[in-house]
Amino acid sequence: MTARPSEYTAALTAAADQAQRWLASVPDRPVPPQRNADELRSAFGESVPDGGSDPASVVNLLAEAADPGLMSMASGRFYGWVIGGTLPAALGADWLVSAWDQNAGMRGASPGVVAAEEAAGRWLLDLLGLPATADVGFVTGATMANFSCLAAARQRVLADAGWDLPLHGLSGSPKVRVIVGAERHASIDIALSYLGLGAPIAVPTDEQGRIQPDALAQLLTGLEPGPTILCLQAGNVHSGSFDDFTETIAVAHEHGAWVHVDGAFGLWAAASGAHRSLVTGYEAADSWATDAHKTLNVPYDCGVCIVADPASLRAALGIQASYLFHDSAGDPLDKVPEMSRRARGVPVWAALQSLGRSGVADLIDRLVANARALAAGIGGLEGVEVLNDVVYTQVCISIGDDERTRAVEQSLLADGATWMSGSRWNGRQIIRISVSNWTTDDEDVTESIAAVRRAITATEPSA
Ligand SMILES: *Cc1c(COP(=O)(O)O)cnc(C)c1O
Repeated sequence: MTARPSEYTAALTAAADQAQRWLASVPDRPVPPQRNADELRSAFGESVPDGGSDPASVVNLLAEAADPGLMSMASGRFYGWVIGGTLPAALGADWLVSAWDQNAGMRGASPGVVAAEEAAGRWLLDLLGLPATADVGFVTGATMANFSCLAAARQRVLADAGWDLPLHGLSGSPKVRVIVGAERHASIDIALSYLGLGAPIAVPTDEQGRIQPDALAQLLTGLEPGPTILCLQAGNVHSGSFDDFTETIAVAHEHGAWVHVDGAFGLWAAASGAHRSLVTGYEAADSWATDAHKTLNVPYDCGVCIVADPASLRAALGIQASYLFHDSAGDPLDKVPEMSRRARGVPVWAALQSLGRSGVADLIDRLVANARALAAGIGGLEGVEVLNDVVYTQVCISIGDDERTRAVEQSLLADGATWMSGSRWNGRQIIRISVSNWTTDDEDVTESIAAVRRAITATEPSA
């Protein structure tokens, strides 16, 4: 039996009401969650309910139970990790993706969503200044984008060494050397672990976390010829810095290495005329990973893997089976680890359609301007040091010694007006500020600076 549309009405109306209530509360509620997961346990029920409940009451119960434990990650004063909010068009599109409930793996099965994702892919390559012939896959995040790109890399460098990976697997294969910067993101290491490639060789980085081109050249020159992959970074999670792509890619290619760029949030610099110089030369790499759920502000989850040579990606991740519909143009399931998946590229299309080229550039420029304004305002407060060159969206600060910095962080989190959390960088305790939300405005910046001032005053060592 096909469900009648009316059977969905009450649940969807309840969801729309609850979603709007939540979104309306975001600007004024404290940023941190008010209850922890243990405290919420009973709200969701200790045991399986004996009988069912009507759909609208389930949605309402869920919204009420979760509410005290939700973090205002969509707040303009949230600067934790690298998160990003949600553009209205992307959220609306995401709801449609759920309502359509399409399996987005095959062109022939759901042309409507595949064509939308293909448009999003073409637009991304254009906006990011990457080769129009590259393959684009939509995955859950930059971790899986790194994994997918590195799977293609592993496939190609082993094939170039005469090793048939699909036939023989990794045992007995030539050693694949993976070179990274000392400050690569941890998701590179886990992706290499999934791929059975073991620990990478780390090249020293400079004080901003950029790979040192001389050290890289020296390392490459000392290696025997053989399968090699180099991972570069566009956007260091602490400093926001970018590797020197022109020089590093040239030397790596001279040695026959595959070059991958992890640009989870930094790749987007390419979409702004004002910040494109941060990625100069990066289009010569072989693969790129990014997120749409960070800088582009689509809802979770959406990452993007981009590979210049489609054959490598498809050889690594493609699937052939008699019961599938294979399209000669290549299917989405050939470019990502999943076979079945939601059409998570559709909200990317909606975000890009709603912003346009100028809107994307403007979004990047505003994020960077807000990061600079926060760095200037907070850097002007008593005892604060800004530790990085604020070239993009990341700001790292410390206040006196490690202990004081930690005390200010705790005070800030308890205050709740903003969210900036601690980390360690260059041997120091720091507070990290990551500007990723499209809604952050001047008032949010002013209020956030005031919150840091309060935390500094509250933690002043007593005279
Ligand atoms: C966030 C991030 C990742 C991992 O992305 P997910 O979307 O969380 O999987 C990888 N690299 C960098 C530089 C990041 O900032």
